[in-house]
Amino acid sequence: MLKSPTVISFELTDEQRLVQDTAREFANREIIPRARENDRNEHFDLELVAKLGGIGFLGSIVSEEYGGRGIDYRTYALIVEEVGRGDSSARTVVSVQTSLVCSSIERWGTEEQRREWLPLLCSGEALGCFGLTEPNAGSDAASLATRATRAGGGWRISGHKQWISMGNHAKVALVFAQTDPELLHRGLAAFLVPTDSEGFSSTSVHGKLGLRASDTAELFLDGVELPETALLGEVGEGFKIAMSALDSGRFSVAAGCVGICQGCVDASVAYSTEREQFERPLASFQLVQELIADMVVETEAARALVWRAAWLKDEGRPNTTETSVAKLYASEASIRAANAAIQVHGGAGYVDEYPVERYLRDARVTTLYEGTSQIQKLIIGRAVTGVNAMT
Ligand SMILES: Cc1cc2nc3c(=O)[nH]c(=O)nc-3n(C[C@H](O)[C@H](O)[C@H](O)COP(=O)(O)OP(=O)(O)OC[C@H]3O[C@@H](n4cnc5c(N)ncnc54)[C@H](O)[C@@H]3O)c2cc1C
Repeated sequence: MLKSPTVISFELTDEQRLVQDTAREFANREIIPRARENDRNEHFDLELVAKLGGIGFLGSIVSEEYGGRGIDYRTYALIVEEVGRGDSSARTVVSVQTSLVCSSIERWGTEEQRREWLPLLCSGEALGCFGLTEPNAGSDAASLATRATRAGGGWRISGHKQWISMGNHAKVALVFAQTDPELLHRGLAAFLVPTDSEGFSSTSVHGKLGLRASDTAELFLDGVELPETALLGEVGEGFKIAMSALDSGRFSVAAGCVGICQGCVDASVAYSTEREQFERPLASFQLVQELIADMVVETEAARALVWRAAWLKDEGRPNTTETSVAKLYASEASIRAANAAIQVHGGAGYVDEYPVERYLRDARVTTLYEGTSQIQKLIIGRAVTGVNAMT
């Protein structure tokens, strides 16, 4: 059930403000100046990845003993918002690495697995990817066909993963596979697959509408042999692991979308106060102000929902539904904001001299990945009605 938290503060602590300022300055200095060229060239910017690792923005919610910064979810949201305002492709690196991969290893991994992978991932020395989706298993993730069979003292994995962010550059792939098709989702298991394993290969996906500077891959596992120590969690816990990762991943996407919304407000205010028509600034026209005011309202609403989800996570309370609410609202709002921002810019908004056309193209994927908007609605609907309408 959706429950309203009793105490939540909108005040940031001094430390949170400092992190927010640092992230804002980093986005302005390191991310924004590269965003247009990286987008134009479909360039996955490894130099930027190294900088994100260097400043501690990868794996920042991981405990310090494993190389993270041990920060709370609200602070994480502040970082992700700023990175998302800069460039959603860079934000995808932060979200996948931190929320999908690092969080899963920290929560479900053995001490050895944590020590082996987390310091490398948190520093950005290695990238990780999250291999859940397949050609015939998207929203219905539990129906995945990648097969893990026992082989000697370990496992042999064969299958095909699709749409995997960072799949061509990852050193480790978190791969979900079926161990016993008769058990359906209860047969799923998660594996930490070194991508230099024999039988592992990847190809790049090109021609995306947006997120062009993000690496997207198909993964092929052809009889990849792994030791028992590659299993993350227990056999049968794969679905639970995937869903817990998505609880954090959806939160991160939502925070990134708040960044897109804020970027749209900033760009629209700057442009409309500068540009004149009818011998007056665009901002002096009430219809232009309406476009901007609607953007502001939705940005603040989205941010409040993200902060509520953060608060619940930081309190250790259940938050799956509230995270879906935040992800659904923020992702849909980011598309509306970007569309409106293009309107404020007129023809200039239609070319990449300004960031708003990229905002629209990049925002578009956020209602698709980490669970489509329809799937978020089904999660929310199930929570309030008690009826599962997903299948
Ligand atoms: C750029 C990009 C990066 C991605 N990165 C990753 C990644 O790193 N790792 C990963 O594992 N995946 C990744 N994905 C995959 C993404 O999570 C899936 O695309 C998403 O889950 C939707 O699955 P699908 O594309 O197969 O669509 P489908 O599941 O085929 O859905 C198609 C349509 O049907 C609707 N639909 C499906 N089922 C229902 C239902 N029960 N009720 C109502 N409507 C329904 C959907 O909402 C959607 O509108 C990425 C995708 C993209 C585009």
